[in-house]
Amino acid sequence: MSEEHQCSGEVYVKGSGKYGGIVKYRQCTRSGRYEYEGKYYCGVHHPGMDHARQAKRAKERQDAREGEARVRNLNAAASDMLAALEAVEWVYNNSKGRVFCLKCLHMKSEGHASSCPIGNALKKARGES
Ligand SMILES: [Zn+2]
Ligand SMILES: [Zn+2]
Repeated sequence: MSEEHQCSGEVYVKGSGKYGGIVKYRQCTRSGRYEYEGKYYCGVHHPGMDHARQAKRAKERQDAREGEARVRNLNAAASDMLAALEAVEWVYNNSKGRVFCLKCLHMKSEGHASSCPIGNALKKARGES
């Protein structure tokens, strides 16, 4: 049977009197499962957890910045990409005299296959899907 320790962390308690809003501290009542420099802390108050949380938040901010940059880049390239896709949407096969999609091989008269990435990207860009 291992010894039970109480967390050494402190928690805020909101005052409840008529001057409520005064904040007091009391000791955390969770069990201290992590030892740190001779004291015991719960998962929330473990000083080492701050670093993990900060690293996690920094990673989230970094991911968000990268996501925003990606969206900016895609927006900036959108009309170029649309023009490029439209340029290759249908190709003319000289020997057969047919106009078809290089990706799904459907003829222009039947339209792209439902799984065709070129057709689907263009549909989205044109607001048709
Ligand atoms: Zn605690
Ligand atoms: Zn196609």
